Amino acid sequence: MEERTGAAVAGLDRGGHIGIAIAGGGLRATSVLRLLNDVENLAVVAVYDVARSAPAIRLADDLGIFTTTELSELYQIAGLDLVLDLSEEAAIHEALSAERLSSVEVVSGPGAELVWDLLIAKKRSEEQEKIFVELQVAYDKIRSHERRLQSSKEALERANEELEGRLAEIFFTHEFFKALTTFSSIGDVTSLIVDGANGILGAEISAVYLFNHDDWTLRLCASQGRPEDSFHPTLHVSETIVGAAFRDGFVQQSDVSPGSELANWYERPEEIRSQAATPLRSGDSVVGVLLVASATFRDLSHAERDRLQGIANQSSLALQNALLHEELERLSVTDRLTDLYNHGYLHQRLDEEMERCQRFEHEMSLIMLDIDDFKKFNDRYGHPKGDTVLKAVSIIIKQNLREIDVAARYGGEEFVIMLPETDVAGAAAVAERIRSSMAQYPHVVGDNVEKVVQTVSLGVANYPGNANTAAALVEAADQAMYRAKRAGKNQVVVAS
Ligand code: GH3
Ligand code: MG
Ligand code: MG
Repeated sequence: MEERTGAAVAGLDRGGHIGIAIAGGGLRATSVLRLLNDVENLAVVAVYDVARSAPAIRLADDLGIFTTTELSELYQIAGLDLVLDLSEEAAIHEALSAERLSSVEVVSGPGAELVWDLLIAKKRSEEQEKIFVELQVAYDKIRSHERRLQSSKEALERANEELEGRLAEIFFTHEFFKALTTFSSIGDVTSLIVDGANGILGAEISAVYLFNHDDWTLRLCASQGRPEDSFHPTLHVSETIVGAAFRDGFVQQSDVSPGSELANWYERPEEIRSQAATPLRSGDSVVGVLLVASATFRDLSHAERDRLQGIANQSSLALQNALLHEELERLSVTDRLTDLYNHGYLHQRLDEEMERCQRFEHEMSLIMLDIDDFKKFNDRYGHPKGDTVLKAVSIIIKQNLREIDVAARYGGEEFVIMLPETDVAGAAAVAERIRSSMAQYPHVVGDNVEKVVQTVSLGVANYPGNANTAAALVEAADQAMYRAKRAGKNQVVVAS
C-alpha cells in the first residue's frame, strides 16, 4: 500500500492506474471491493467507514488495503482520484463533498449505482469469457479425439479391405482347387477367373480370352461387368491389349488415351479409361489372357499386380485340366485318321436331332457315302495310299458342310452326313457336289507320277419323307446308296 500510494502522483498519468477509495463498508462495498480488486488499471487505495467492524473494512484489511474511520485521513492519501460513495448516508455524502479536494471526484447516488451495474456487467462478461475459453478447450479436445477416432477408423477400414481381399483370395484358391479335382469345363474355369478378378481385385470389367490355334485368334470365353455383347468375341493376336499381353506378357495402361486401338476389344473403346492384361498359362505355353478394365482412372499398385498375377497362377492348373479334358472329349468323339466325328458320336447327335425334329416338326436329311471299288485301290496301291484317299474324302465333305451339319466316318470307308433342316433336294445337291469333286480329284499314286481318280456312291434319305426313326433313316440312306452301287457307282440316289 505504502509503495503504491508513495509512488503515486496525483492525476491519471501514474502508469495508467486510477486510485479509488470506497466510502461505506457495507456488503455492497465488500462486493465492489472484490470486483475492483480484480480490475486492471484500477487500484483501491482506501476504504472508509465510521465503523471499524464494517465488512468492507475487514476485507480491505485482509487484502492489505489502507482503511480508516476518519474522513480527513481519506483525503490525505496520495494517488487518490475518485471516491466511490456506497454509504447511502446523506451525512457521509455531505462530508465527502464538503472536504473534497479539487483533484478528486466523488461519485455517489445514481453515479455509484452505475459503477455497480458496470462492474457486475464486466464480471458477467468475464465469466462468459472464461466459460467460452473452457468451451474452446473442450471443443479442441473433442476434435482431437475425433481425429484420432477417424484415423483409427481409416486404419480399420484398410485392414478390413486387406482382409476381404485375402478372404477372396482364399475363397478363389479353394474354388480353383475344386475345379481342378472335379473336371470342370473351360467355361466354368474361365467364369471363375473373371469372378476372381472381381472378388479379389475389385475389377469393374473383366474378361478371359483363349487362344485358338486354327486361325491365331483370341476368343472370348467369359466376361463380367458389362453385357457380353459389349466385348468383341474374336480378336487377332496382333490386336488390342489382349493380343499385346498374349505376345509380350503383362501390360498396363492407367490412362488410356482416347482413340487408342488397344481398347478395341470393347465396342465403345472411348469409354475405357484404364486397363491391364496378363497372360494365362497352361504348363509352359500361353493359352489365353485375363483382361481387367475400368471406365475410370486406375493405376494398379504392386500389391494389385501381384493379385492379378496370383489369379492367373492359381487358375493355371485348373485351366490346363479343363483344356485337357476338353481335348480328351474331342478325341473321344473324333476319328483319328479323318478328323471327322466317329460312329458313336454320330448316333448320339442323330438321336438328339431326331427328337428335335419330331417335337418341332422340323425335317432333316442324311447322306450315306461309300468309296467305289476301294478294295481294288488298296490292293493295287497299298493300304497307306488308301488312307490318303480316306483323308481326301473327309476334306471334300468338310468343304461342303454348313456349321450345323455333322459328318462322321461311319465305318472303314463309309461316311454319313447329317443335314438338319434340309429337304431331299438340298441334301441331293450337297451329295452331288461331293460326288463330282471326288470324280475330279486326282490322287497321286505309284512313285508320285501316276494320277488316279477314286469315285464314290451316295444315298440320300429324308425325315419325315423316307423314315420315322433315326435307325430307319440310316437304313433308308444305306439302301439308296446300294441302289447307286447297283446302278453303276459314281452316282447319287435318293430314297424312294
Ligand atoms: P464297293 O464299290 O462295292 O464298295 O467295293 P469295295 O471294294 O469298296 O467294297 P468292300 O466293302 O468290299 O471293301 C471295303 C474295303 O475298304 C476293304 C478295305 O480294304 C478298305 N478299307 C476299309 N477301311 C480302310 C482303312 O482304314 N484304310 C484303307 N486303306 N482301306 C480300308
Ligand atoms: Mg463298304
Ligand atoms: Mg466300297
